[in-house]
Amino acid sequence: MKTSDQELQSSLHAYLRRNHPEICRHWFDQIGVLGVSGGVLRLAVTEPVRLKYLQRTCMAPFTEAVQSITGRLLAVRFVGPDGAAGEPASQLPSGFSEPGEATPLLDEQMVLSPDYCFETFVVGPGNRLANAAALAVASKLGRAYNPFFVHGGVGLGKTHLLQAVCQQLLRQQPAARIFYISCHTFMDAFHECVRAGRMNEFRHRFRNVDLLVIDDIHYLSKHEQTQEEFFHTFNALHQAGKQIVLSSDAAPSEIPDLEARLVSRFNSGLVARVDRPCYETRVNILKSKARLHDLRMPDDVPAYIAARVDTNIRELEGALTKVRGLAMAMNREIDLELAKEALGGDPLRMGQENPQPNIQAILDAVIRYYDIKLTDLLGKRRHKSVALPRQVCMWLARRHTRYSLEEIGGYFGGRDHTTVLHAVRTVESKQSVDDRLKADVDRIEKSLSSHLAIDAVP
Ligand code: ADP
Ligand code: MG
Repeated sequence: MKTSDQELQSSLHAYLRRNHPEICRHWFDQIGVLGVSGGVLRLAVTEPVRLKYLQRTCMAPFTEAVQSITGRLLAVRFVGPDGAAGEPASQLPSGFSEPGEATPLLDEQMVLSPDYCFETFVVGPGNRLANAAALAVASKLGRAYNPFFVHGGVGLGKTHLLQAVCQQLLRQQPAARIFYISCHTFMDAFHECVRAGRMNEFRHRFRNVDLLVIDDIHYLSKHEQTQEEFFHTFNALHQAGKQIVLSSDAAPSEIPDLEARLVSRFNSGLVARVDRPCYETRVNILKSKARLHDLRMPDDVPAYIAARVDTNIRELEGALTKVRGLAMAMNREIDLELAKEALGGDPLRMGQENPQPNIQAILDAVIRYYDIKLTDLLGKRRHKSVALPRQVCMWLARRHTRYSLEEIGGYFGGRDHTTVLHAVRTVESKQSVDDRLKADVDRIEKSLSSHLAIDAVP
């Protein structure tokens, strides 16, 4: 790139970060400026999925940015690796979209998001197996685990993993024929084709692929006719050594009203469950999302959000979005104070909204009492100044919430349940011989109970 192009590139990036932070991604600084000709600024992108994202979502903000920076009425065109700037579909590897070949009826693939790749997938105890298997599937198509079936609760990364497999394969084998579709769309296409008498076309379309990915396959439940058709699709692909990847909100045998022969097919490959992320993983995910969206924040912010939100990753992202929104609206840097404001600050109020007593209230009380930092309390340090408050915190959590030892351990930086058990016993037994500890604990409990209706575990 020429110096002037480089300057334009960095001004573009800065403009977008300031005015359109929601579309910004960390890889924007890899977009090459190819120069202006005929009133068009050409921008080069190497990855097809990124190219498609830019063409679909970013045209208007980029045009606005370019015009405002150069003061000229320029148009913007994103171009792919071969330098050709065509319509979005023609930029893609042939197997990915097959324009022209597919009929509109069967051309309903889901769009891949450049955010959902392996590089941005944070691995922790809850998803390690699923991640490793997905990687193996992408690199040894049809030979590692077939089918690969991933299941778990909402917002735990199933769709992200499925798309990561597709993107990895596209990078390694750009000509691979991929069909990535939601179960709903599969069922709709099936019904349409039955109605229109186009079943041959349907079969041809679904059986001529190297990788078939169906998201949320549990929706097949109760749909006998579609199950029957899917059974044949499955067998045809499987026998030809083609890869099948499925996601579901439940294990195969737990999907209601699913034919036994499908259950057994699904179980015949690898079934991997994704679980809720522990505290440490939640912190890492938040940091990774912040990096992806080019957000800067001190470490205590992800620590705080991760302690507040423990349900699933979509909610974590929602919390981060709230924080970013408030920072934008108030034109402030993101810091702990701002995060507290954005998330409704007062954890005790959360306790009332939430039928489950909140660990956050306990954490806050302990932090305030011992005057220590949240990151230390939840972190790895074993120094006495944090080890004792941490044990007190675990004891309080055990006594005043319904969380299990495992869950409390998860909260405290992914410690296992024996550590929590040890902490609970230590605090219990020390109190009877250590008056100072007893007084400390009493005071913390008092500060808690004056605000919160404590639900003691019987
Ligand atoms: P599901 O399909 O299981 O309901 P998604 O795959 O849609 O969940 O994930 C919800 C959000 O959480 C997505 O934005 C996804 O990128 C993010 N996410 C989930 N798991 C992870 C992870 N391990 N690392 C990074 N982001 C994740
Ligand atoms: Mg999903």
